[in-house]
Parts: sequence; structure tokens; C-alpha cells
Amino acid sequence: MKKLSTKGICAYCKNEIPKNSRSILAHYSKCKGRIIHKTYSHTKHMVLLIEDKYNSGYWLVIVAKSILPMKKIDTFIKDIWVECCGHVSSFAKGSLKIGMNQKLNQVFKKENKIEYIYDYGSSTEISISLLHEIGDEDEKDVQIIFRNKDMEFQCSYCDNKAIVICRFCEFDKEKGFLCESCYEKDNCVKFEGREVLLPIINSPRSGKCCYRGYRGKNVEKYFPNDII
Ligand SMILES: [Zn+2]
Ligand SMILES: [Zn+2]
Ligand SMILES: [Zn+2]
Ligand SMILES: [Zn+2]
Repeated sequence: MKKLSTKGICAYCKNEIPKNSRSILAHYSKCKGRIIHKTYSHTKHMVLLIEDKYNSGYWLVIVAKSILPMKKIDTFIKDIWVECCGHVSSFAKGSLKIGMNQKLNQVFKKENKIEYIYDYGSSTEISISLLHEIGDEDEKDVQIIFRNKDMEFQCSYCDNKAIVICRFCEFDKEKGFLCESCYEKDNCVKFEGREVLLPIINSPRSGKCCYRGYRGKNVEKYFPNDII
């Protein structure tokens, strides 16, 4: 798996920016694709960086209302990135659990960075950092403003681009990534058939359990324009 951080795409203008808080905040404040309505009823929002704890290539930046309960962030992360078949999830700071009814502004009053786990079996671990607090229009609860570009993975057996991943070998980059012509070389496919293969998805849960992406999750509502 690539360790280098991937660039992010702006959900408004589709331009690419590097993954650092300075570029993120600078672009967001001057993005030409964003129409800023002059309004006096500003609501407090938080700009949050959500990223895979172990692969910094997977990341999202969202703007969320500061008064939202954590369960809304839980639903968002499940919808866009992790939900496969109803596993348990939780937020925590170190060994301290953060309740789902706590509000963003309560949690981030004390902390700058918290953790999220989805599934205690084949876990997906995510961290969430506060980048900034802003006054914004009273619009959507959660809005994606940047999402990492698609990463490309090479087939473990040849030079082609991998399109599927073996759910039993996903932890082993030497053999888990497969292109259309090599998938039969995977031993698990030989013994158990194509059901062991999962599509490669732009998500930290790619290759885990039965994850097949956000289809059917109505994620359009999280984007200002088209899904990126
Ligand atoms: Zn932009
Ligand atoms: Zn599952
Ligand atoms: Zn191949
Ligand atoms: Zn396998």
C-alpha cells in the first residue's frame, strides 16, 4: 500500500490541493467554485479532517455544524466510507470513550484529535482532527469539501492496474491485489471461488469484510455538486 499522501479534490471546483491544513483552509476560503451568500445568520461550523489512521492517502475534509451530536458523524463516516454489514462503531480519545450523544463542540472543546473504530473484528481505524472553526451559512449538517484522489494499485502478479482485492489476502500487499487477468492466481479464489474478491474502493475499508462501497447509501446529500 502506498504510504505517500494523496492529493485532495475540491468538491466545489474540482481543483487539486496538497494535504495540509494551510492549503486546505486557504483554498476553502477563496475557492471560486463556492458561491458565498452574504448572510447575517451565521452558524458555527467545524472544519474537520477525517483520515485513515494507518494510510494517510485516504482522507476527507468536511464542514459540520458544531452542535451536531457524534452519532451524525458516525452515520456520515458509515455512509461514505465504512458500512458493510452493521458492525459496532465508536469514538474515543485514548482509552476514554466518547458518547454518541455528545456534541462536536463539547468533544473538540478539549481535544484536537480523536479516534473512530468501525468493527472490532476486522477493524477500520480512523482519526478525526479539528482544523478550524468558522461561521458559515446555516446549510447542511455535514458537507464534504475535499476528498482524496483515487489511489492506483498495481496487480500483485503483473504490471496491470489492480481492480479487485482478495478479502483474505488484503493485509498482504504481495498477493492481495489482482487485475482482471490474474485473479485466478490467488489461492483463495482457486479454493473458494470469486466470492472472496472485493472491488477496490476509494475508502479505508477497501478489501475488508464484504465492503463494496457506498452504493445505496444516498451520499449525494454530502456533496455540494456531483459526487467526487
Ligand atoms: Zn475549490
Ligand atoms: Zn461487514
Ligand atoms: Zn495481473
Ligand atoms: Zn487470497
